Amino acid sequence: MDFSLTPEQEAFQKQVRDFIRQHLTPELREEVEREQYAIGPLGKNFVRLMGRQGWLGIGWPKEYGGQGRGAIDQWIFLEEMAAENLPTGGLTLNSAGPTLMRVGSERQKREYLPKILTGEIEFAIGYTEPNAGSDLASLQTRAVRDGDSYVINGQKIYTSAAHHSTHIWLLARTDPKLPKHRGISIFIVPIDTPGVTIRPLETMGSERSNEVFFEDARVPAANLVGEENRGWQYVTMALDFERLMPHARIRTHLDNLIDYARNTVKDGRPLSQHYHVRIALARLAVEVEVLRLFSMRCAWMIERGQVPNAEASVFKIYMSELNEHIARAAQNIMGAYAAIRGEDRLAPVGGRLEKLYRSFPLYKFAGGTNEVMRNIIAQRGLGMPRD
Ligand SMILES: Cc1cc2nc3c(=O)[nH]c(=O)nc-3n(C[C@H](O)[C@H](O)[C@H](O)COP(=O)(O)OP(=O)(O)OC[C@H]3O[C@@H](n4cnc5c(N)ncnc54)[C@H](O)[C@@H]3O)c2cc1C
Repeated sequence: MDFSLTPEQEAFQKQVRDFIRQHLTPELREEVEREQYAIGPLGKNFVRLMGRQGWLGIGWPKEYGGQGRGAIDQWIFLEEMAAENLPTGGLTLNSAGPTLMRVGSERQKREYLPKILTGEIEFAIGYTEPNAGSDLASLQTRAVRDGDSYVINGQKIYTSAAHHSTHIWLLARTDPKLPKHRGISIFIVPIDTPGVTIRPLETMGSERSNEVFFEDARVPAANLVGEENRGWQYVTMALDFERLMPHARIRTHLDNLIDYARNTVKDGRPLSQHYHVRIALARLAVEVEVLRLFSMRCAWMIERGQVPNAEASVFKIYMSELNEHIARAAQNIMGAYAAIRGEDRLAPVGGRLEKLYRSFPLYKFAGGTNEVMRNIIAQRGLGMPRD
C-alpha cells in the first residue's frame, strides 16, 4: 500500500482547504462545536452552499450529477471537513443516496437524488428500536399495505438526525410470517407525515438524538425502496457505503491537548516540559497516526474495488477507544479544569475535551457496538465460525 498522496491529490486537498478557509465563519465554528450528531441552521446553510458548488457529490457517479472522483479524493475531502467538525451530508449522501441509485425506482431517483446533492433533502436513519439494536432484524415497526399506501405503526429510537431532516429512511416489517431477516423493507417517510411524532432524547454528551413514533402514518406505496421484503439486503448494502471514515477529528482533539500543555505553566514550567505529560502525549500521537493509517487503508481498498469489512471494524473500534484515551489523558493532564464545561470562560480549549469525556462512551455504540465489531473481525477477518 502506498501511503503518499499524488500531486493531483495534494492539489485537491489544497482546494478543499481553501474552500473551508473561505467559508468557515466564527459563528459556524461555534455551532458545530456544540453539535456532533445534529446540524444547526448555519451547518445546514453550509451543506447547501457545498451542494451549490458541487462539493457534496464528489464521490457520486457523473450520471447522477456527481464528480465521479475516487475513494481517496473522497477520503481527503472527509478528512479536511472532519478536522473542523464540519457537516458533509452524512449518511444521506454516503449511505442512503448510493443505495437509492442502485435499487430505487426511476421516479425515486429523479425525485430525490438531485435534491440530496443540493442539500435540500436529508434523511434521518430509522433502523434502531428499543428492542432491536445489535439484533436489528428483530425490529417490530410494522408497515401494512392498504391499497396504494402503506400504514406504519411502531417506534424507533436514536433516530439522531430526525429533528433537522426532511425524511426518514425507515426499516419496517412488512411480513411477520417470514424469517426475521426476510420480512423487512425500506421506506422513505416524509418527516411531516401525519402520525409521525419526534421526541428529543438528550445524550450524556449534550447531543440530541430522538425517539420517533409512528401511529397509523400513511405513505404512498411508491415510497417503498426496491422490492418488498428485501430491506435487509439493502441495509447491508447501505452499511457497506459507510466504510469511508475520516480520523482527523481525533487529531484535532490531541492538538487541543498539546496546545494546552504548551501554554499552561505548572511549578514554574510549561506542562509540555513535564516528563509524564510528554510521555502521555507522545503515546497518543502514535495511536493517532495508527488510526490515520487504518482510515486511509479503508479508502485505499475501496479505490481498488474492494469492500473493507473487518478493516472498517478495526478502524471503528480503534477510533472509539482512542477517543476515550484522549479524554482520560486530558483529565490527568488538566486536573480539575478538565471538568469545566464550555459555557464557562475558565474551560480549557473551549470545553471540547470535557465534552469528549462525556461523549466517548457513545462512540462505542453509534454505528454498531464495539462487541459487534469484534465479532465481525473474528468472523470475517480471522475466518472464525459465527457465534
Ligand atoms: C449517539 C448515538 C447515535 C445513534 N444514531 C443512530 C441513528 O441515527 N439511527 C439508528 O437507527 N440508530 C442509531 N444509533 C443506535 C445504534 O446503532 C445502537 O445503539 C447500536 O446498534 C446498539 O444497539 P443498542 O443500543 O440497542 O444496544 P444492544 O444491542 O442492546 O447492546 C447492549 C450491549 O450488549 C452487547 N451485545 C449485543 N449483542 C451482542 C453480541 N451478539 N455479541 C456481543 N455483545 C453483544 C452490545 O455490545 C452492548 O454492549 C445511535 C446510537 C448512539 C449511541
